[in-house]
Amino acid sequence: MKPPPSIHLLPDLLISQIAAGEVVERPASVLKELLENALDAGSSAIQIQIEEGGVKLIRISDDGCGIARDELALALTRHATSKIASLDDLEHVATLGFRGEALASVASVARLTLTSRQAGANHAWRLVGETGATPEPAALAAGTVVEMRDLYYNTPARRKFLKAEATEFAHCAETVKRIALAHPGVAISLAHNGRTSFQLAKGDAAARAGAILGDDFIAEARRIDTGAGPIRLVGHCSLPAHSRARNDAQYCYVNGRFVRDKLLAHALREAYQDMLHGSRHPAYCLFIEIDPAAVDVNVHPAKTEVRFRDSRAVHQFVFHAVQKALSTPAGRAPAEAIV
Ligand code: ADP
Ligand code: MG
Repeated sequence: MKPPPSIHLLPDLLISQIAAGEVVERPASVLKELLENALDAGSSAIQIQIEEGGVKLIRISDDGCGIARDELALALTRHATSKIASLDDLEHVATLGFRGEALASVASVARLTLTSRQAGANHAWRLVGETGATPEPAALAAGTVVEMRDLYYNTPARRKFLKAEATEFAHCAETVKRIALAHPGVAISLAHNGRTSFQLAKGDAAARAGAILGDDFIAEARRIDTGAGPIRLVGHCSLPAHSRARNDAQYCYVNGRFVRDKLLAHALREAYQDMLHGSRHPAYCLFIEIDPAAVDVNVHPAKTEVRFRDSRAVHQFVFHAVQKALSTPAGRAPAEAIV
């Protein structure tokens, strides 16, 4: 009989590559992580350049707080984060990131370069994400440029699961839209293979929703704002008469984070139930604001799932708010249909 295999610790790179399986599903998931980092850094303008559906290149330039020279290598280290320090922080987390895993994961399956300059620094520093590399001086205005090249160059098995360039880019564009809807105060531009896909100016939530979902959506939607309270629902939802054949315009956010949540989807379906034919889908862009301690975002590395402490209350609240907005009598201007 063969002796049983010995137990040993995995090398760091392999640990990151395993973790990357959860975070880096495709180019769009890299893009999501990099965009969230730029937003967490307090950026007011973000430029995104993508080549070949994001497989060849994803470059994000921001004007956020930057990373200090001596922390560039740490930023690429697993479980290194500037966003939380304790369990208490985790329970009240207000940033999009907190796991300190994304950059390390991306760096383990692609070529990653960070160039960053903090306000007050004489110049920028660049770190090429290879083990043992040290930062070199670079030229850049304050902010950060994160460049990811050649996704899965060292994990060919993963590369096989990538779809056609157009499909991967469509996922990237959708990721940008989801994030852009929740951050109307940040100017965002997206270019693919050198061609501008869209350029979103800073504005208010309605202008941003109009730019992404169409001005006719805003013109024909009911506006919801339940006002301050333990839970608040703000946003726009389409009237049944303006429903769509596809369910491709349904955006739900919890504390600024896009979520795909069965409970919320169910509450919305119920609210529309008696007003929509089975094959029609409402369009909505709704933001739930709730005490961060009342929701757990640490369910999955990609963080598109959440768990509410009191899920019944959230369901009821969303259901009633949307139902009320939809049943506001005609004649009142949609923009005034505030619940
Ligand atoms: P997390 O976002 O969970 O902290 P990441 O691996 O995504 O983990 O990033 C690690 C750290 O690198 C962040 O905590 C942050 O301090 C820094 N960082 C990453 N991207 C940026 C950026 N665009 N601007 C400023 N700091 C950044
Ligand atoms: Mg992050």
